[in-house]
Amino acid sequence: MTFWRSAADLLLRGFFPSRCPACGLPSDDPASLPFCAACWRGISLSLYEGPACAICGEPLPSEHAIHCGPCLEDRPAYTKAFTFGLFEGALKEAIHNYKFAPARRLSAPLAGMLLARGLPPVHAVTAVPLSKKRLLERGFNQSMLIGRHIAKSSGAELLPHALRKVKETPPQAGLNRKERARNLRGAFRANDRFDDMTILLIDDVITTGATVRECSKTLVKAGAKEVFVAAIARTKK
Ligand SMILES: [Zn+2]
Ligand SMILES: [Zn+2]
Repeated sequence: MTFWRSAADLLLRGFFPSRCPACGLPSDDPASLPFCAACWRGISLSLYEGPACAICGEPLPSEHAIHCGPCLEDRPAYTKAFTFGLFEGALKEAIHNYKFAPARRLSAPLAGMLLARGLPPVHAVTAVPLSKKRLLERGFNQSMLIGRHIAKSSGAELLPHALRKVKETPPQAGLNRKERARNLRGAFRANDRFDDMTILLIDDVITTGATVRECSKTLVKAGAKEVFVAAIARTKK
């Protein structure tokens, strides 16, 4: 049975070689799968290790500053946000394809990238929820799929319905920080109490951070003791 399965697998791969989800070219290097070797190199290069805000992770121009302006002005409800890299190049392509195609096979490598960066131990993992309409359109919540892998690997509980989006918000593109925050106010509701729990909140891309700020606030209001945020990428300012 196993023999026939692998024979069939080989045959299928010959006809339909696996495609890199970032560039669409065949990818058969087992070290970089599902990405091709070139894209995987590009993704590793987008890892950001320069000076950054100790709370939100926003890149800072100098090693001497500890916090960014927005965090000093209005401290987020979460303790710290962890991101893998900058939203550019192959990483941007991978996230884009992950969002718009049912590329579920990407959730494991994306989760692996975050885990390799090091995440704090928590009681539970959840993700930024999609509105009902978006979830129906897309069929899956890409951040929750990543969260599922992270929960499984770290032994934390997965809370797939911790939050729900109760307000359909207009597209955030082109809006500034204040407008985004205003748009999202009251957009999320907690479905439960999370008393004394530490929670890791997953998002795919952080832009101004308005979404993860609002979700963290909602979790803390529902009793969470501490919230951490993890996202694959952040946009470059
Ligand atoms: Zn590629
Ligand atoms: Zn900050």
